[in-house]
Amino acid sequence: MLIAGNWKMNTDVDSGTELAADIAAAVKKSDLGTVALAVCPPYVSLTSVREALGETSVALGAQNVHHEDEGAFTGEVSAKMLLSAGCSHVIVGHSERREYFSESNQDIQQKVAQARANGLVPILCVGETKAERDAGDAKNVVEQQLRGGLAGVDFGAPDDLVIAYEPVWAIGTGDTATPDQANEMHAFIRGLLDDLYSSAFADDVHILYGGSMKPHNAEELLSQPDVDGGLVGGASLDAESFIAIAEHG
Ligand code: PGA
Repeated sequence: MLIAGNWKMNTDVDSGTELAADIAAAVKKSDLGTVALAVCPPYVSLTSVREALGETSVALGAQNVHHEDEGAFTGEVSAKMLLSAGCSHVIVGHSERREYFSESNQDIQQKVAQARANGLVPILCVGETKAERDAGDAKNVVEQQLRGGLAGVDFGAPDDLVIAYEPVWAIGTGDTATPDQANEMHAFIRGLLDDLYSSAFADDVHILYGGSMKPHNAEELLSQPDVDGGLVGGASLDAESFIAIAEHG
């Protein structure tokens, strides 16, 4: 079970560091068993968040990465830079990047490949819009995003990859997928991973659900057999809520 917090473009260096310190303190007090945690703050606070997390096992992730190694790409951040800031994970292909920054499946595949080549674990996000679901296209869309994003990239172990199923209509809306809807899509994704890699690999890859996951609905979602964790946006900005969700894992 993995619970990852996507802070998006929220918090500044001070408030982000404080949030990380609150999470670190809460982690020490709670018994999370085998539930692993990760936080993905904005670039500017990666190093101070890493420091604030201290000796806890909370992993650090970024929210994006550039697909080239280095060079004249003003404003971009490379995989090696993320590693040097203490990151182990990176979110790739979030629906907000697909929508507002026109990232295609091909762009996303290059980022997945770059993350993998540098030993970062990509958290590949897939998910359909409301219109696509209403048109009966949800699985087609998710399949294209998954096959497109992973094309030609091999992974050594299941822990080298995380998938997040985030139905766009559930993100930041308070409108969560039902546990059945989530589980059905997760099982479908696992089947695709089996086809792309192997059943042993597919069985053990963490497939997270994202989209208005909150303390009050986490238990039901996380108890589904194919839901291996959550990618949490809004509720991850409050240490207490974030840990409360993890306690349901
Ligand atoms: P949300 O965001 O929990 O605020 O819906 C999830 C995400 O976009 O990763």
